[in-house]
Amino acid sequence: MQNPAILNHQVMIRRNGPQKWENIHVTVDLPLEDLIDIDNSNAQGIQLDTFGVLNQTSKDINDLIQEAKTKKKQIKAIGSGWALSKIQVTDHYLLNTKLLNKYFEVDDQFFHNDYPEDKRKYLVLAQCGISVGELNVYLELPKVADQVPRSLKTAGIGAGQTIVGAVSGNTHGANIF
Ligand SMILES: Cc1cc2nc3c(=O)[nH]c(=O)nc-3n(C[C@H](O)[C@H](O)[C@H](O)COP(=O)(O)OP(=O)(O)OC[C@H]3O[C@@H](n4cnc5c(N)ncnc54)[C@H](O)[C@@H]3O)c2cc1C
Repeated sequence: MQNPAILNHQVMIRRNGPQKWENIHVTVDLPLEDLIDIDNSNAQGIQLDTFGVLNQTSKDINDLIQEAKTKKKQIKAIGSGWALSKIQVTDHYLLNTKLLNKYFEVDDQFFHNDYPEDKRKYLVLAQCGISVGELNVYLELPKVADQVPRSLKTAGIGAGQTIVGAVSGNTHGANIF
C-alpha cells in the first residue's frame, strides 16, 4: 500500500536548472530553461518493486505538467536522446525519463477475463525509460522455475533506445517477421 503522505509532494523530480543540451549525435543543441530528471532512485519511502512507484511517477509528472501550464512553459520528454531530428526538444522544460526503468510482472488479478491464459506469462509492464537492451536482459532470465525465457519480438542494431522513444520516434527495421 502506498504511503499517502509520500504522494502529496514530488519526490522523484530533480531540477537541474538552465543549461545547454545536446542530443547523443550532436545534431541538435539548444539552451534549456530547466533539465528535469524523474528518477526511480529518488523515490524514498516507496517500494520500487510495487506499483506504488508508478502512482508516484504519474503524480509527479502530472504536477510538472500543471506547473508548466500555469507558467506557460513547453514541456517535452526525452528517453535516450538518440533521435537525430528535433522531435524531442524545447527551450523550456525537458524531462529526462531515462531513469524510469523498472519492470513488473502482472498478477492474474489484473487480467481481463478475455485475455488468453496461455499468453499471460509473456506480459510484462515496463516503465517508459527502460532501454530495449535492459528489457531484453530482464526478459531472457526466467524469474520462477516454470517461466520460459522471453524476448521482444524484434530488435535493432542498437539497443540503447528507450521503449517509449522507439515507439514514438523514428525507428527502422522494426518489422515482425
Ligand atoms: C546510433 C543509433 C542507432 C539506432 N539504431 C536503431 C536500430 O537499430 N533500430 C531502430 O529501430 N532504431 C534505431 N535507432 C533509432 C532510434 O530507435 C530512435 O531514434 C528512437 O526514437 C530513439 O529512442 P530514444 O529513447 O533515444 O528517444 P528520444 O530520442 O529521447 O525521443 C524520441 C521521441 O520520443 C519521445 N519520448 C521519449 N521518451 C518519452 C516519454 N517518456 N514520454 C513521451 N514521449 C517520449 C520524445 O519526445 C521524442 O519525440 C538508432 C538511432 C541511433 C542514433
